[in-house]
Amino acid sequence: MSEQKKGRIIILSGPSGVGKGTVLKELLARNPGIHLSISATTRSPRTGEIDGVNYYFITREAFEEHIARGEMLEYASYNGNYYGTPALKVQEKLDDGIDVLLEIEVQGALKVMEARKDVVSIFLLPPSREELEHRLTGRGTEDAETIRKRLEASIYELSLADRYQYRVVNDEIPRAVAEIEQILGCGAAV
Ligand code: 5GP
Repeated sequence: MSEQKKGRIIILSGPSGVGKGTVLKELLARNPGIHLSISATTRSPRTGEIDGVNYYFITREAFEEHIARGEMLEYASYNGNYYGTPALKVQEKLDDGIDVLLEIEVQGALKVMEARKDVVSIFLLPPSREELEHRLTGRGTEDAETIRKRLEASIYELSLADRYQYRVVNDEIPRAVAEIEQILGCGAAV
């Protein structure tokens, strides 16, 4: 009986405003073999976000039930809300030999890195602190207090970048995506 090759967990983290969403979209468009894990969260949907597509938007009670039943691969509290990765779907994909991408914040990422060996961890860095502030303010989807909180969180997150196996600067999206493909050994970079 031949052993099926397992997939890898690919962790992509980076401060809010670094452009994770855009890099991720491009990476997945170019590499349809990578599965994006859909997280659960207790935060409210932003305009245009769809339940089951961007996140599973659930209540605190439901989230805590999932935690109690051991159904989260990892979870963290961020800006007063829970965010977590449902374990079952991830494991199914890995068992099928499919790489699974987790776009998660640093606390959860560190937990996964400590608990498992089958992980490739990548931290997306802004070209500069000024550029990050500029991108975060320019997005226009959040109020001033939320932006201030996110900037504060980004200082903490950036301080943990060296705990990741790889750091990629998001100066230009196609270049950053190509660098990630090279790290993963996939896409046009191979
Ligand atoms: P946002 O509210 O902007 O969608 O996400 C806020 C932060 O939560 C981002 O840094 C994002 O990477 C992180 N995040 C999203 N899903 C998860 C998850 O399942 N687990 C953890 N630990 N962080 C997550």
